Parts: sequence; C-alpha cells; structure tokens
Amino acid sequence: MSGNVAIYPGSFDPLTNGHVDIIERGAEVFDRLVVLVAVNSGKDPLFTAEERVALIREVFKDNPKIVVDVFSGLLVDYMRFNDIRVVIRGLRAVSDFEYEFQMALVNRKMHREAETFFLAASEKYSYVSSRIVKEVFSLGACIEDLAPGPVIDAMRKKYGKLTTKGKKRD
Ligand code: ADP
Repeated sequence: MSGNVAIYPGSFDPLTNGHVDIIERGAEVFDRLVVLVAVNSGKDPLFTAEERVALIREVFKDNPKIVVDVFSGLLVDYMRFNDIRVVIRGLRAVSDFEYEFQMALVNRKMHREAETFFLAASEKYSYVSSRIVKEVFSLGACIEDLAPGPVIDAMRKKYGKLTTKGKKRD
C-alpha cells in the first residue's frame, strides 16, 4: 500500500465511541488507516465479522482515508502482504498495558519491521469498552454517548431478535 499507512486491528464487537475516537485521530496522522476486523473464533461474538465490517463502513462512509477489512489469520501476515508497518492500538488504563505490550513485542518478534503506536484514550471514553456497551444496553440503559448511531440501531435489532428467539443476553 502506498503512502503512510497504519492498521488498527480489533474485535469491534461492536464499534464504540472509544474506537471511533482512536480511528479519527489515527486518520489525521496517517494518509490511510485500515480498520481490521479480527475474526476471532475463540470469542462468542454478538455481531458476525461481516456485520461488524458493515457497521464500521457505514460510520466512516464519508472519510476516504479510512478503509475497513476483515482477516482471520495473523496480523503480521496481513501487514507483510499489504506492506503496512504501523499498528495502532488504544490504551485506556494500566490494565490494558500488559496485554498490549506483550502483543507489540510478539508482533515485532514475528515481523521485524512492525511498529506499534499507542494512542492514549480520550478522557471521556476511557471507561468505554465493547463489553460495557453490550452489558448496559442489554440491561436497558441508554448508550447514546457510548456508541455511534448505526451501532445502536443494530443493537436494537439484534437484541430484539435474540429476545424473540428466547436467547436474550441479560
Ligand atoms: P481486542 O479484542 O483486540 O481487544 P477491541 O475491539 O476491544 O479489540 O479493541 C481494539 C483496540 O482499541 C485495543 O487496542 C483497545 O485497547 C482499544 N480500545 C478499546 N476501547 C477503547 C477506548 N474506549 N478508548 C481507546 N482505545 C480503546
């Protein structure tokens, strides 16, 4: 990929305003930001990878610098194949640090040219996570300040669907 490109990998199940903040700030610094949705078979996601990709595309449809893709293999393989060196990750609290630091070292061990850039979470989103968004929504709380509009609409549909199937997650 030409220009100054960075990749922001994650589960995004679902995209939160904390992710949106990191994506927008990343896209200001780089020519192009690839948001890479990880297909993680170890987790039991609320949204399929395709649904997560579609939601992120919808939210950033007016920003040509932001590209969304999906991948199920090793991040460093995707980076090598697409000639991308920079990984962006967000840091919310000290609790994020250990895992993030480990991942950065492992990625660089596997791919010498890979560099991880950490962006500090914005104060107002430092407590926001996909898990919190799902939990408070399923208990009936308003998540307008926590997730973008298309995500909230999709959550309404998803939980409605789960409820009618008798599998409500609460
Ligand atoms: P993963 O399953 O890989 O942890 P997530 O979708 O939960 O993926 O998060 C992707 C990245 O975004 C991680 O680096 C995470 O620390 C960061 N992140 C998540 N929520 C926020 C937030 N509210 N503010 C800043 N960064 C965040």
